[in-house]
Amino acid sequence: MPPTRISYLGKSWPIDDFVAACLSGECSFPATIAATIIQNLQRYDNHQTISGSQLHQECDYKALLERTLDYTKEITDLWPASFRGANVHGLLETCRDDPRFNGWLFEQRFFAVLTPVGEIYPLREILNSVPDWEFFEEMCHNLRQDGCIILSGALDALDTMNGIGHDYKTKSKVGSYTEVSESWLHQMSEYTFLARLHGYKVNGFRITVMDATSAVVLEVQLPIEELWVQDYLIPRARKLAKHQEFMTEEILAVNDGILEPPQGFPEPIINYLCSGENREGKIYCPVRDQCIKWRKNG
Ligand code: SF4
Repeated sequence: MPPTRISYLGKSWPIDDFVAACLSGECSFPATIAATIIQNLQRYDNHQTISGSQLHQECDYKALLERTLDYTKEITDLWPASFRGANVHGLLETCRDDPRFNGWLFEQRFFAVLTPVGEIYPLREILNSVPDWEFFEEMCHNLRQDGCIILSGALDALDTMNGIGHDYKTKSKVGSYTEVSESWLHQMSEYTFLARLHGYKVNGFRITVMDATSAVVLEVQLPIEELWVQDYLIPRARKLAKHQEFMTEEILAVNDGILEPPQGFPEPIINYLCSGENREGKIYCPVRDQCIKWRKNG
């Protein structure tokens, strides 16, 4: 869930009022950049699906709190992700109409259904014939009622002739990015699996990590698909779907104001997002102040 409030220089505003505050001069952050960041935050937030970036998370409790509590984000912390989004989108827009990229797909989102008995089938045909998000949301809701799980993944680019997928990541400095992280590996494996499921050839994946002045390309060594699907994708998707059941109105009401993880939910795990032990030395978890683990540990 996006944050409910946005802060800048020690003051905060409800997310929907932030751009107006920038336009009126009440907040000195540039209004155009604020509008881009907030639009990017609110662009796609489909609670019905499990996406590639959710497949590998350091702490599932963080996701629960973000969906349960009102929380505030500093606008300058949101900029890197929006910068990436704007960069990648601009880059792909340029290539989309270029005939030299014939046979490439850009920003293609794939959906698939995992049934209770472990079968997985593609959903794209249905989407193509009915490009109506309200209908889609309802369809996902009904499938979930039947015990199905909806998987989704959006590839930045796919060269369908050569079967090479491309992903672009913007970082403040590329220097320390010398290998593909575990979470990126799972993300690219999910994209590969979904694209193949929809009939596309994928032989490999390349991640371009870029900063303002340089870029590095990392080749992804994809795992053996069948083993990855059985040993990782299906169990992990089922676990996440179970966690999503906690994120319902009923649970929110019962747990109102109580930040203990509900029974059956995994313990919070202190990690680089909240310990400050990361490349930037920053606290990335926006719900750390409300996290039981940090309250207990002081
Ligand atoms: S502060 Fe750390 S342990 Fe707590 S929810 Fe955030 S990431 Fe998880």
